[in-house]
Amino acid sequence: MKKNGKMAVLGSINADHILNLAHFPRPGETVIGKQYQVAFGGKGANQAVAAGRSGADIAFIACLGEDDIGKRIRQQLANDRIDVASVATITGGSTGVALIFVNGDGENIIGIDAGANAALTPERVVEHQHIIADAQVLLMQLESPLDSVLAAAHIAHQHQTRVVLNPAPATPLSDELLSLVDIITPNETEAQILTGVTVNSDEDADLAARKLHEKGIATVLITLGNRGVWLSEQGNGQRIAGFRVAAVDTIAAGDTFNGALMTALLEQRPMAEAVRFAHAAAAIAVTRRGAQPSVPWRDEIDSFLQ
Ligand code: ADP
Repeated sequence: MKKNGKMAVLGSINADHILNLAHFPRPGETVIGKQYQVAFGGKGANQAVAAGRSGADIAFIACLGEDDIGKRIRQQLANDRIDVASVATITGGSTGVALIFVNGDGENIIGIDAGANAALTPERVVEHQHIIADAQVLLMQLESPLDSVLAAAHIAHQHQTRVVLNPAPATPLSDELLSLVDIITPNETEAQILTGVTVNSDEDADLAARKLHEKGIATVLITLGNRGVWLSEQGNGQRIAGFRVAAVDTIAAGDTFNGALMTALLEQRPMAEAVRFAHAAAAIAVTRRGAQPSVPWRDEIDSFLQ
């Protein structure tokens, strides 16, 4: 196993348009909201930012549109310590968009236009294969074309790069892809889509984790919101509780968890300690609004843990 401390993230970039509403509109209903904001998001970018801000040496493989917001996002990603040389600007394309409603209970509903993210084709992945081959860890999600995720997993596997998959948003996946994954990090909904097990308890999480191990995945981390995570390594499971905080919006909680987890693993920390670091980063994120604006820097995580 390589130990050069480098990671690659392959994934999406979106501009998030967020509106807070007392309740979600029903079909045909209009609800006046408040605190409209445009924030930088997309699961790939959020996880890359969480890794960059928490201290990882990270290169990002992604696509942006040829528009003003794309330019601003590229600059922000660079400011977040990310190598953006492999972030392509798609000629004539528009940057991906997410329309997000947040209700009074902090829940959200989201619609997405993939935009330039759809141009992250398997051919483009192959163009950047040296980055995947060189990295110690490749982190991916499912907001990119599935055949591209599969192509990247094959390249990583060939070069002994550890494959970490955050299987979000929830989508059924082929055995071929799952067999190439070393660490998987579904939330409860995603675990259910992948295994058929409804996860309401630690026993359910253990059963779902075992089904994922049967697909050839060595490490399963099922995130359980404010209950923490279920960590299962080769079938030995335990729940690791998170931190109690006053949550204002859980957008990017999982993304922050995944990015920070990678940073800690690249620092050769044991898994349980890496999970604690990731819990701290995600706990800070849920006390703040938005996706990337809520992602903490390393000094904030270290102070939180003191
Ligand atoms: P997702 O955002 O992908 O649905 P989860 O809701 O399972 O993921 O949350 C991911 C991680 O974020 C949790 O494992 C935990 O570390 C943190 N987290 C989520 N919600 C809370 C909360 N209310 N309080 C503290 N930490 C939280």
